[in-house]
Amino acid sequence: MKTIKRIINTPPQHWVGDGFPVNSLLFYGEHGNAISPFLLADLAGPAHFDPAATPRGVGQHPHRGFETVTLVYQGEVAHKDNAGNGGIIKKGGVQWMTAGKGIIHEEFHSQDFTQKGGELEMIQLWVNLPAKDKMTPPAYQGINNEDIPTATLNNGAQLRVIAGSYNTITKAITNDTTKATTNNTTKAITGPVSTFTNIQLIDAVLPANSTTTLNLTEGHNSIIIVRRGSITINNTTINTKCAALLNPQGDTVIITAHAPSDTTSNADNAEILILSGEPINEPIEGYGPFVMNTQAEIKTAITDYNAGRF
Ligand code: MN
Repeated sequence: MKTIKRIINTPPQHWVGDGFPVNSLLFYGEHGNAISPFLLADLAGPAHFDPAATPRGVGQHPHRGFETVTLVYQGEVAHKDNAGNGGIIKKGGVQWMTAGKGIIHEEFHSQDFTQKGGELEMIQLWVNLPAKDKMTPPAYQGINNEDIPTATLNNGAQLRVIAGSYNTITKAITNDTTKATTNNTTKAITGPVSTFTNIQLIDAVLPANSTTTLNLTEGHNSIIIVRRGSITINNTTINTKCAALLNPQGDTVIITAHAPSDTTSNADNAEILILSGEPINEPIEGYGPFVMNTQAEIKTAITDYNAGRF
């Protein structure tokens, strides 16, 4: 069974461009290889935006050496990059962008969301690439909500498997009391994203007061981010916009869910994002939007970008 290594509390909020008020819950500069292969998790919103004429966001900027993963929960984000990719990430959608050897992109509220206004909630992850893949050609996987398979567990918990596989174990249900009911069915649900290293990325909606045993992977760094409500793991409570970093030992975690404290319904849900991945045990050297293995590679990244080689 996986136990808690440390609780990560909500850091102060800052703005990315003028579009995204974020809490950088995970950051390699603080957590290092303890969160590997993940480098960063920015929780944006939930925040309300009034209708406006001009889309807010963040203009053209480069990335090299890793992948950016944008998950939209409310609102819409428009994306465009110099590899010719672009599109609108809608509610429930995920954009998995491999910056690799270099990409220049921009991220804005969509035109439609800008005009109508409303709630914006998203998470952006940075996922590291192993040294051998840092200079891979840029790539883009745009995934719509309907392309993400969902599993409903016996207790009503719902899992959306974005990347990797999740093994559901369903107890056979029979009304025939003369038969043993120990025949469990195991079924693997696999997400649509392809990744460079072994990663599971799963959204989960957990009914309040339910307890769920999640099947994760021995040896992975696993992180549970709480988006809504709160959860308890081994008698420790993790609140909204906080995370639990789990120890790599063990392959399951037992989570009890609690409704948001401001809800009027005690049947409300908790919502979490599960990040789990095989650690990349290599040096991390980062500078702004570049994450490489050595200072020399960072210098090269800056030179290449300034010379227009992205
Ligand atoms: Mn970016």
